Amino acid sequence: MCGIVGIRSTADVSFSLYYALYALQHRGQESAGIATFNGSDLCKHKDYGLVYEVFSEQTLKSLEGNVGVGHVRYPTTGENLPENIQPFLFKFRGHVIAIAHNGNLVNYRELRAQFEDRGQIFWSTSDTEIISKIITESIRKGGSIEDAVKKCMALLKGSYSVVMLFDGDLYAFRDPHGIRPLCFGRTDEGYIVASESVAVDALNGRYERDVNPGEMIHITGDEIRFKQIAVAPQKGHCVFEYIYFARADSYIDGALVYDVRRKIGAKIFEESPVQADAVCTVPDSGTAYAVGFSEISSIPFMECLIKNRYMGRTFIMPTQKKRENAVRIKLNPIPDHIRDKSIVLVDDSIVRGTTSRRIIETVQGAGAREIHMRIGSPIIKAPCYLGVDMPTRAELIGSDKDAEEVRKSINATSLHYVSIESMVNAIGLSEHDLCLGCLTGCYPIEIRDERSDNRCFSMVDRDVQTSLFE
Ligand code: AMP
Repeated sequence: MCGIVGIRSTADVSFSLYYALYALQHRGQESAGIATFNGSDLCKHKDYGLVYEVFSEQTLKSLEGNVGVGHVRYPTTGENLPENIQPFLFKFRGHVIAIAHNGNLVNYRELRAQFEDRGQIFWSTSDTEIISKIITESIRKGGSIEDAVKKCMALLKGSYSVVMLFDGDLYAFRDPHGIRPLCFGRTDEGYIVASESVAVDALNGRYERDVNPGEMIHITGDEIRFKQIAVAPQKGHCVFEYIYFARADSYIDGALVYDVRRKIGAKIFEESPVQADAVCTVPDSGTAYAVGFSEISSIPFMECLIKNRYMGRTFIMPTQKKRENAVRIKLNPIPDHIRDKSIVLVDDSIVRGTTSRRIIETVQGAGAREIHMRIGSPIIKAPCYLGVDMPTRAELIGSDKDAEEVRKSINATSLHYVSIESMVNAIGLSEHDLCLGCLTGCYPIEIRDERSDNRCFSMVDRDVQTSLFE
């Protein structure tokens, strides 16, 4: 996962990019970067760390120009190397270009091999570099940026939401399946394109709409142009954005993520009613679900775990041991709210099972009589190849277990996962326009190494151009 932003304004944009990245920090905590165009050249600053650690007032002042792009990174492809920190900047035939990408390209290796066979060099291990190579290759052949984006959409397989600075013009485009989010908005001084609408809010702007799958946006001095470049027969919006990744206060395709989660919470109660003394959230990701569950069940919402605000997301810890310890530091129980009570404990998802097991242990240790675990996602069965750092099947607790087996393994009194049908219903889009890969093992595009017997990727991907140099 990553967060991206592009801003065009009548004033300097570096501080606005900084605020927008701050709002997108949840999408990536490994590194952050900003590139601006000062009228003749690019200015850049990027480094490891959180947004507030990477940029000082001084550095932001040095990033001049009224157009720029920014990125926060959580690595899915490419190692933890300084050369993989985005935006990527390069020069080609007198043009200056900066690119920031959110997504994962599944045919990255094949495309890279084709370039390397022609003697081209790569300086990173990130799939984003392929996008820049396709763009320069297209320009070399005399094409426009629109032609280059067309070429990207013909060649790239996978997920990509991209913002690009090209000689002072801002471009943004989204893969034809619209797997990762991208939206645009207006501010008093110009335009913003960003992974989530909370970045638009951060600038006190107006969220207009999502960038359509397969659409390109071109923002020049004072003009914004929209161009539909490619159309896939079906979309493939990632459900995990709704379940966990996006901020609850973001709008995706017009739906407020908080409300989607709240509706799912209500559906969970309808599917699996229970009598209990209190509905508790696993903060913060379980909260909207717990509110929905409490509203419909009339079981009072009560906080029984308090989150240490100064800790990152536990799954970022590199080893299992560190993850286990981190859970204990992250969530502290309130025994007075728990002792002798029957508790409904609501969380967004169970991935490896580490968190749930530890939390249940903690809540039990604080004296709970019963713990009814309720989960806002269906059971996670398969890895993600399209941008979410979902572990391998061997690490996924639900890959080869049913809910009852998971319940035993995490030691809950009862366990219920929302059904796929109810989740889709709450999202409000057709099931065919969603990527349910992590839940079904069936992806909107062909994944070569995936063992799925159910080949349900769409026609457009079977027809995808495979040679770069055709
Ligand atoms: P665990 O089951 O121990 O892997 O932890 C699952 C919790 O971590 C969930 O409740 C989510 O809040 C959060 N999480 C979300 N996405 C991921 C992910 N890609 N990998 C691991 N944990 C995640």
